[in-house]
Amino acid sequence: MIFHVLTIFPDFFLGPFAHGVVKRAKDAGLLDIRIHDLRNWTSDRHRTVDDRPFGGAEGMVLKCQPIFDAVESIWPERRADQKVVLLSAQGGLFDQAMANRFHQSAELLLICGRYEGVDERVAEHLSDEEVSIGNYVLSGGELGAAVIIDTVARLIPGVLGNEASSAFESFQETGHGEGLLDCPQWTRPADFRGWKVPDVLLNGNHKEIAKFRRESAIEKTKRLRPDLL
Ligand code: SAH
Repeated sequence: MIFHVLTIFPDFFLGPFAHGVVKRAKDAGLLDIRIHDLRNWTSDRHRTVDDRPFGGAEGMVLKCQPIFDAVESIWPERRADQKVVLLSAQGGLFDQAMANRFHQSAELLLICGRYEGVDERVAEHLSDEEVSIGNYVLSGGELGAAVIIDTVARLIPGVLGNEASSAFESFQETGHGEGLLDCPQWTRPADFRGWKVPDVLLNGNHKEIAKFRRESAIEKTKRLRPDLL
């Protein structure tokens, strides 16, 4: 799968994909992340990407011309499995179901807003979807793009060591998941400061362990995220 990011801060992405499973997947060629500097699609001396809002208001707005030019040069002929996502505080909320849907595309192009936002014509006439990562306002779409890429990357076969593992994770409703939280996990030592690991996990009875895990996932979901039930 190919991810494109359109940003005025390409260096922002030196960090987020340089570690762990995403880095390994990139190195193994399972996914490709291409960072594009929006200023490459400007033609003036100052490489201007923003301008004052019509009607007068605080701050600046990203102009449509460099963004349209960028997307149209990255994909001169856009196929149905090449999706444009605009990061926006006003978008639909990103969740695991949306990640599963994005994973169906061959390529995703994530547009990172800055300043007071992006000329509305980008949302209306260029983007397939406007997406928010939560009900709060960030100073740019870059963190959101990193969150989306990391989440979708985990779904690509081979990215996680164990092929099945993403099916059993929190929120996952496809495969074996039920949209619950994942079950709690423990590792050695079995007794830490008197806090003991549940006995059932130590007895090697796989049927009992599976039952315990399911029950503890339900219990934890009830306690911390009753809205998921
Ligand atoms: N004036 C806008 C916020 C602009 S913040 C408003 O009140 O809705 C600048 C940029 O940060 C946005 O264009 C968007 O790309 C990004 N951004 C801010 N909050 C976000 C969120 N919750 N999810 C995704 N992107 C966000």
